[in-house]
Amino acid sequence: MIPSVLPTYSRAPLNFESGEGSWLVEADGRRFLDLGAGIAVNCLGHAHPALVDALTTQAGKLWHTSNLYQIPQQQALADKLVEHSFADTVFFTNSGTESCELAVKMARKYWYDKDQPDRTEIIAFRGSFHGRSSAGIAAAGSEKMTKGFGPLLPGFTHLAWGDHDALRAAVTNTTAAILIEPVQGEGGIVPLPDQCLKGLRDLCDETGTLLILDEVQCGVGRTGKLFAHEWAGVTPDIMMVAKGIGGGFPLGCVLATENAASGMTAGTHGSTYGGNPLGCAVGNAVMDIVTDPDFLADVNRKSGLLRQKLEGLIASHPDVFDSVRGAGLMLGITCKATNIDVVNAGYAAEVITVPAADNVIRLLPPLTITDAEISEAISRLDKAASSLTA
Ligand SMILES: *Cc1c(COP(=O)(O)O)cnc(C)c1O
Repeated sequence: MIPSVLPTYSRAPLNFESGEGSWLVEADGRRFLDLGAGIAVNCLGHAHPALVDALTTQAGKLWHTSNLYQIPQQQALADKLVEHSFADTVFFTNSGTESCELAVKMARKYWYDKDQPDRTEIIAFRGSFHGRSSAGIAAAGSEKMTKGFGPLLPGFTHLAWGDHDALRAAVTNTTAAILIEPVQGEGGIVPLPDQCLKGLRDLCDETGTLLILDEVQCGVGRTGKLFAHEWAGVTPDIMMVAKGIGGGFPLGCVLATENAASGMTAGTHGSTYGGNPLGCAVGNAVMDIVTDPDFLADVNRKSGLLRQKLEGLIASHPDVFDSVRGAGLMLGITCKATNIDVVNAGYAAEVITVPAADNVIRLLPPLTITDAEISEAISRLDKAASSLTA
């Protein structure tokens, strides 16, 4: 008999009842150190006082109206995002995949309005992840995500990650945009080198192609900059954001330049919930914290500390771990053991990690993790690795 919850996930037998900071409390009382943060969502940990206050204060006033009316919390959050990024304008969604939908629509509408209606093709990359909606799975293109769900949304070309010649050849007069994650998340924490992102920007400038960055996982302070592309010193035309921006409340957005967004006039797009007062109240509280330069400097300091300790951990378990990669507090350990076995051993040692492609375990702790918790994480991962080789 089919379970009452549609069985599209194989779930771990863990029931978390509460959370505080970097910790999750299981129904049986066990305390797990959370290095997954709901897959880079709980960027300020669990039950952060500023977020609880923002949510509960707003909840007592007004939950929802409609985008038919002015929403001051939405206006304030858009202003903050514009102030702190390349963008001139913001549309709010409830998830990453909805941000992908709009990014694709915006790029196509741009060329339609420029009297180049055949410029619809979006170039994307193998190993990428852009969500589970029809545009999201067509954009990622992997058999795992698309098999059985055809006919797929047309107009996506998939290139190998890092094949510069193929990319140059693939951009034609039907190319609307290039869509890429500055750090692949689900693909196994694969950072795009700064030179490659610069090269992409140059290629887009030469050909007029729009550059869409998917920062759903790597954005909002995760890599130690507010947005990951800042490391390369270049900016996109359109950017997808979600996960961390709501700190656990379902919130996403699309940021764009005035030029890229020029086709999106009144009536061309909408959302019932996107940018509602509750979500934006929380988003404002997240932004107030993560845009503080001292906060980001501390993320970078802790990244160095965690990486250094992980190198030691890997050296003491050469049969389990191989190497560490990533940026900021978005780190991946390539494993010699099977990554799922390492994640399960972590559960037994009461530490949460997240598997990814390429036999990687992801460490995406709350950005608020403390130095003592980093040390504790290493000792729990050490225990997990030891249990695999015992
Ligand atoms: C999680 C993710 C998405 C999809 O976000 P949802 O909120 O699950 O729809 C898209 N792109 C990237 C890079 C992601 O990590």
